[in-house]
Amino acid sequence: MTPEAALLRVIHCLDRAMASPYKTRAFVGALDVVRAIDPVELAERARDGRLTELDGIGDATAGVITEALAGLTPSYLTKVEAESQIELTDAGRPYLDALRGDCHLHSTWSDGGAPIEAMAAAAIDLGHEYMVLTDHSARLTVAHGLNEERLREQLVEIDRINDEIAAAGHDFRILTGMEVDIFEDGSLDLSDELLGELDVVVASVHSKLRMDADQMTRRMVAAVANPHVDILGHCTGRKVGKRPESQFDADYVFAACAQFGTAVEINCRPERLDPPRALIDLAIEYGCNFSIDSDAHATGQLEWQPYGCNRAAERQVPIDRIVNTWSADELLAWTES
Ligand SMILES: [Zn+2]
Ligand SMILES: [Zn+2]
Repeated sequence: MTPEAALLRVIHCLDRAMASPYKTRAFVGALDVVRAIDPVELAERARDGRLTELDGIGDATAGVITEALAGLTPSYLTKVEAESQIELTDAGRPYLDALRGDCHLHSTWSDGGAPIEAMAAAAIDLGHEYMVLTDHSARLTVAHGLNEERLREQLVEIDRINDEIAAAGHDFRILTGMEVDIFEDGSLDLSDELLGELDVVVASVHSKLRMDADQMTRRMVAAVANPHVDILGHCTGRKVGKRPESQFDADYVFAACAQFGTAVEINCRPERLDPPRALIDLAIEYGCNFSIDSDAHATGQLEWQPYGCNRAAERQVPIDRIVNTWSADELLAWTES
């Protein structure tokens, strides 16, 4: 294992464990140093114990580099690998096994921490057949949301990366998409024309989460009834222990999801785990489809799908109603219908 690979793997595991950005930043900084320095100098410094003289290398990162160069699995990596394992229940296993892709994830184009290529490589390693790239729309300025011009640039870039992936012999593709903001009146933060060009559209509420329940119900029903919307993202907007659920009439919203063919997302982020159990039960009753999505903002977070699988298994979501257990072609046939 090269020092670069070891550091990348440590970052992956720290992301998977949702470590503090401060901790991860040390390893990202060390990675930059390792990539920039002459490998001979790196080896000499490791041998003489002079790595920490370099700006951006501390004791922990020096240890990882030194052990990797010595042909060992760095002890720090072994530790974070073990500590960051994601628990999968026996009941959740068939769900995870059935998943063939991930319909909600971000890259450095918006507020993600990894470039598209790195997200795709990690998704390929997980055995996925596809991933839908859903960076934020323009309104979410804090997340560097994409305006139409940047989205068009991204579509060209995805084409190029897909060609590279195919040339490398991988049976995998990146599907185009966006996590589009739902405005207060239920309209969407992207033109109809561009929405129609995307493979998969996730629509989410990110603002005015505390609006009056009647208004929120109208807002969400209007969004899920939009023929371009395929998946309703993290429907209550809650953050466990931090932010309460938005108030809306879930009967209307899920009935509309069933009526207009919009899947209800089971968001796997550990701080979201949205919808809560009772709402999953209700969405099952209404005959909704589901999508078990990581909402990953870093490569390691692509491994969060077990959280949603465990939850889906517990509530007995019918596996054939989970849209990302379908092949890419089946998924596209559904989003285009
Ligand atoms: Zn979101
Ligand atoms: Zn998201």
